[in-house]
Amino acid sequence: MSATPQLSIVIPVYNEELNLPTLFARLYPSLDALGRSYEIIFTNDGSADRSIELLRAQHAKRPDVTRVIDFNSNYGQHMAIMAAFERVRGEIIVTLDADLQNPPEEIGKLLEKIDAGYDYVGGYRLNRQDSFFRKYASKLINFVREKTTSIEMTDQGCMLRAYKRPIIDAIVRSGAINTFIPALAYSFSGNPGEVGVKHEERHAGVSNYSFYSLIRLNFDLITGFSLAPLQYFTMFAGLCSLGSLVLVAAIFVRRFIFNLDRETFGVFTLFGILFFLLSVAMIGIGLIGEYVGRTYQVVRARQRYHVKEMLENKP
Ligand code: UDP
Ligand code: MG
Repeated sequence: MSATPQLSIVIPVYNEELNLPTLFARLYPSLDALGRSYEIIFTNDGSADRSIELLRAQHAKRPDVTRVIDFNSNYGQHMAIMAAFERVRGEIIVTLDADLQNPPEEIGKLLEKIDAGYDYVGGYRLNRQDSFFRKYASKLINFVREKTTSIEMTDQGCMLRAYKRPIIDAIVRSGAINTFIPALAYSFSGNPGEVGVKHEERHAGVSNYSFYSLIRLNFDLITGFSLAPLQYFTMFAGLCSLGSLVLVAAIFVRRFIFNLDRETFGVFTLFGILFFLLSVAMIGIGLIGEYVGRTYQVVRARQRYHVKEMLENKP
């Protein structure tokens, strides 16, 4: 491995023992065919299966171009990528998934765009092979993201992306937590581009993302990149209190000027208003908590992940 390879390929691996052999078989030849010097960094994100043994064997087989970061436990796909970003040596960095949903043969397309002068090239999936639910949920999130942040991406969920080195350096320096890497990279890019890439069905196994972790990820995306939710919320709360003021005034007018609803109406209306305001307040507390939680995590400055072992040849 030369000290500075042209390319660094970054791949997070979590319980992918069924996919790794095919990944190796397709990835190395397609990189060899590009005719550029490269390194591949795999992060084993605390897999519970035999992934690490397979990575170890692969490192033994191609020690010149293979590096493996072994986490002591599961920190999530994006943290796995961050750990690799902190160690990349290449001038161009490419991320992709280990489950072969991003065909390694498409890397060349991204590089062409980079060569054309873009500093960040996002892939978008031409024929997305995911469940109906995932596709539509992701359309919805795309819409919300476009409204609340200034990030413009056709396909935020596609991890087949290429970055020039300065962007990766900026991401690493930002020390962000809960990072949604494609969006973070976009915010540092001076000249972002996009290119359509093939998408395949997961080679084997099932997605590692549960419904819950998808919600978490998207919450990260929105609150991590804008204060808009907080601001909309405040405006909404303002409108609500204005509305309830008007309502209370109306009740008073009916009761004292027109002498109506003497027994019941007022009580129920007030209960209605009370419940409504209570729910608004609860949403608000949750939202504030989200921001406070982030602040806390940054202020605490705890080490974000722990590397158990590094397999690599010194340059
Ligand atoms: N992954 C990871 N840690 C996790 C979950 C996933 O490193 O906690 C990796 C996984 O091995 C794969 C990529 O992230 O390489 C994408 O995961 P997956 O295919 O499960 O997500 P999906 O394609 O369904 O979005
Ligand atoms: Mg996948």
